[in-house]
Amino acid sequence: MPQRIAIVTGSARGIGAGVAKRLAANGMAVAVLDLKEADCADTVSEIEKAGGKAIAVGADVSQADQVEAAVAKVVSGLGEPTVLVNNAGVIRDNMLFKMTESDWDTVLGVHLKGAFLMTRAVQQYMVNAKWGRVVNLSSTSAVGNRGQVNYSAAKAGMQGFTKTLAIELGKFGVTANAVAPGFIATDMTAATAARVGVSFEDFKKGAASQIPVQRVGAPEDIAAAISYFTSEEAGFVSGQVLYVAGGPVS
Ligand code: NAP
Repeated sequence: MPQRIAIVTGSARGIGAGVAKRLAANGMAVAVLDLKEADCADTVSEIEKAGGKAIAVGADVSQADQVEAAVAKVVSGLGEPTVLVNNAGVIRDNMLFKMTESDWDTVLGVHLKGAFLMTRAVQQYMVNAKWGRVVNLSSTSAVGNRGQVNYSAAKAGMQGFTKTLAIELGKFGVTANAVAPGFIATDMTAATAARVGVSFEDFKKGAASQIPVQRVGAPEDIAAAISYFTSEEAGFVSGQVLYVAGGPVS
């Protein structure tokens, strides 16, 4: 079996960095893609230090021309990608009555349009290989979360996007699944703590007390789920949404 080539968007830090390291440890060559190529250096060097193969790619996933150029760079630098993790994300939280059009467009642009552009650019290589794995990051916010009308709409949209990809691409040996994390300790949740005026430690403690397993998640928890969805043996699992939240989500 040839070495699989994966692209993980938003993998300079947070969940994406955890996923990139895990897929590299699983034997894949990984394109570490983020807004700024220089920001990808830490993830790339950690992968290389552990004996893996990775390259850094800078691109804004919400811009079609940058996405096309980034995927071309992956093809020339590593080979044809057949694993794609659409992880890049931003938050612009606000109550509906205070939310600006730009808050809405930015969040929908990065999560939903970004996933669309990346998947459209990569699918040809999966179809050629008659094998592929797409994993999209949704969120427990998809079922509704105060102050996140934009993010919640985007993350619910990721679920419909995933299911349709599964239907369209299944006959080419390509699966598409979504992972919907609960509270994961990253810069994103640290930013939320700062916005509500609570220290990150107290914010995590408060969140953990509401979670059945009594702890917040780590990027490695999400990487483990994505490791399964992108594995060779997961070929009959497609169009699913897996909540990874330390408990059930309703
Ligand atoms: P994070 O720490 O903020 O990391 C997100 C990464 O995405 C950053 O490196 C960021 O780059 C990059 N990014 C942002 N906009 C981009 C763009 N237009 N093009 C390319 N890269 C871009 O966030 P995280 O917590 O790891 O979240 C990762 C994913 O999981 C997101 O989709 C998020 O919505 C989802 N999620 C997170 C949680 C959680 O509790 N943390 C829960 C549910 C779902 P910059 O550093 O340059 O901004």
